Amino acid sequence: MRFPIYRPRRLRQSPQLRALVRETELSVGDLVAPLFVREGSRLRKPINSMPGQFQFSVDELVKESERAAKLGVPAVILFGIPDKKDEKASGAHAVNGIVSKAVRALKKELPDLIVICDVCLCEYMSHGHCGVIRKSGKNYRIDNDASLSLLAKSSVAYAAAGADIIAPSDMMDGRVAAIRAALDETGFADTPIMSYAAKFASAYYGPFREAAESPPQFGDRRTYQMDYANAEEALREVGLDIEEGADIVMVKPALGYQDLIWRVKEKFRYPVACYNVSGEYAMLKAAAQNGWLDEKQAVLEMLTGFRRSGADIILTYWAQQAAKWLKD
Ligand SMILES: [Zn+2]
Repeated sequence: MRFPIYRPRRLRQSPQLRALVRETELSVGDLVAPLFVREGSRLRKPINSMPGQFQFSVDELVKESERAAKLGVPAVILFGIPDKKDEKASGAHAVNGIVSKAVRALKKELPDLIVICDVCLCEYMSHGHCGVIRKSGKNYRIDNDASLSLLAKSSVAYAAAGADIIAPSDMMDGRVAAIRAALDETGFADTPIMSYAAKFASAYYGPFREAAESPPQFGDRRTYQMDYANAEEALREVGLDIEEGADIVMVKPALGYQDLIWRVKEKFRYPVACYNVSGEYAMLKAAAQNGWLDEKQAVLEMLTGFRRSGADIILTYWAQQAAKWLKD
């Protein structure tokens, strides 16, 4: 080998030298804060399994978003918790649905903040599944094609309320094309779609179900979310969403799936987002609370790792906190 001529340690001798040759930059401009919104006022309800995270009423959501924006966080993604659920996901597409109300309030108070709307049916369905259910006796199936019109309707409702980006997370086949067509027909041809393109059925979503009050009442989501063992299929899923009109493609979860962030970036050269999910947040928070890990160091290392893997955009519950750390 080239030692002693080449000594990699020469460039690690001081913080200044290390900064000079650093390859990856984690910037607050890459972060998106996921926020949960519900009916009511002056409500800031802690989520037990996600210390530091809350369900907000619209007024408190605006305050929290303003705090995020002041810290430099450019975008929030909204998840709604409706008062009433049914089998038609009415709350998802009603003009006065909780997310539409939240979007209107945010765009009025904070016009420069990018407001992304997660689009799915599970939070609004009494059965908690992401699509329309057909039952016969004890058996049930998810009716893929019947779900598409509801997803498209919800997307148009959010765009009409002022959403800057539509982000379908349901994993039904063909939903990006259905949403794109519906947006184009209703005058929202310029509204981008960020698709949850490779979304895996994952144990790491556990705390989110408490946060969004959306666990399936029976069965699981493995007939629509992906098998976590499959990478080739993930690339096919991403390819389909791009063909159907996705502008940004997402890999979810992030930790444990960084090979896919990399492969998606390498293969498609599209803007790639990754979702640093609730379980990733909960486990690191728990370790930090026990004094087993330094939260700041561990989180910045993890988020930089997502960027190094090829993610342009990181959805993370640490967005506001990381923004503060990056300023110090
Ligand atoms: Zn869902």
